[in-house]
Amino acid sequence: MKALITGCGIAGPAMAMALREAGIEAEIFEAYGKGAEGVGAFLNLASNGLDALRVLGAHRTVMAAGIPTPRMVMWSGTGKRLGEVANGLALDDGTVSHTILRSDLYRVVRDEAVARGITISYGKRLVTFEETGDRVVAGFEDGTWAEGDVLICAEGVHSRTRALLDPRGPRPRYSGLYGFGGITKVPGLPGEPGTYHMIFGKKAFFGYTVAASGETWWFANLPRRLGDEPADWRPALVEAFAGDHNATADLLRTADLGSGLPVYDLPPLAGWHRGRVVLIGDAAHATSPSAGQGASLAVEDAVVLARCLRDEPGHQQAFARYEAERRGRAERVVAYSRRISNSKAPGPVGRVFRDLVMPAFLRRAADQKSLGWLYRHHVTL
Ligand SMILES: Cc1cc2nc3c(=O)[nH]c(=O)nc-3n(C[C@H](O)[C@H](O)[C@H](O)COP(=O)(O)OP(=O)(O)OC[C@H]3O[C@@H](n4cnc5c(N)ncnc54)[C@H](O)[C@@H]3O)c2cc1C
Repeated sequence: MKALITGCGIAGPAMAMALREAGIEAEIFEAYGKGAEGVGAFLNLASNGLDALRVLGAHRTVMAAGIPTPRMVMWSGTGKRLGEVANGLALDDGTVSHTILRSDLYRVVRDEAVARGITISYGKRLVTFEETGDRVVAGFEDGTWAEGDVLICAEGVHSRTRALLDPRGPRPRYSGLYGFGGITKVPGLPGEPGTYHMIFGKKAFFGYTVAASGETWWFANLPRRLGDEPADWRPALVEAFAGDHNATADLLRTADLGSGLPVYDLPPLAGWHRGRVVLIGDAAHATSPSAGQGASLAVEDAVVLARCLRDEPGHQQAFARYEAERRGRAERVVAYSRRISNSKAPGPVGRVFRDLVMPAFLRRAADQKSLGWLYRHHVTL
């Protein structure tokens, strides 16, 4: 069997490596040129995602490129400490969630795939596909084609293949938030390495962790109408945090803000596969970043789909089993993350209510058992 994989973000290379472990040939086709490493400054790779990478023997290189971040402390914009929860649960070998630059994560998984003999072709944006009897043919924007037994779409939230599979299916759903983030060296934000500080401000949300190097890795979520994008975001961001009792606004006065990006998730799809084509990662179940799980789910998908393709008698059965194993979990995470995103942009009454109930909620969440479904999920190949 030969698998065509479209997309070389996180799901694509993980899929190719998992297939190789399962004895199935795979080739990756990426729309952009090498070095276009995706959007967003950094991300949280949760312990369950590292566990899935461990199945592929790729967790060590990823962890070496990141910083351990096992704890989260929550604050209100008024400066009240709301509580503390684990950011992931330590694996049996002590592995904890890591924070990693997005460009480093993409580079590491891509290089790892190449080192295992996987071919990646760049500048290959899928624009169409066709099933011809027992094969599937992918057509790219540059006029070239590729043929295989199955087409695995790892194209992310704005997937073209998903739209072709089900033109009337759900579209990505705007969360109401624009995301910003960066790394800056500022004194003034208190914190110790390993801990995220999450601030539910009066008008917007701010999170950061202080690295051992002294740099502040920060991100902000600003409630905003979709498309309302000023040429300069700084005044809007500084204003949103100016009323909070912390030094966030000061950081935003000087930090490199990068570009503000609208945050999306994906409502549940009617199905994740049709014929010889199947969706994985964000293309199947994009989640808003609030739960810090999108990348981890993508790697879990890859491991499970490779096992199903190896063990089931045909691709139809394999896709059906993969979807049956993965859909409930993925949709639960999307819904969970959406709830957190909504709590980042409440009205004034909602805000008071949130700050009142959150300590009790966090006390419950601090009980490790309640986080087990999220972080102790283990996939096998
Ligand atoms: C601001 C922000 C913060 C986030 N923070 C976190 C976090 O803390 N933790 C976490 O786990 N997740 C986080 N996420 C989510 C995470 O980035 C995604 O879940 C993850 O990247 C999904 O991987 P993927 O491979 O499915 O898709 P992507 O990483 O989006 O990769 C898709 C790839 O497909 C390529 N492609 C697209 N269309 C085509 C086509 N037609 N043909 C060929 N190639 C194509 C793209 O160029 C891209 O390289 C965040 C996302 C954002 C936007």
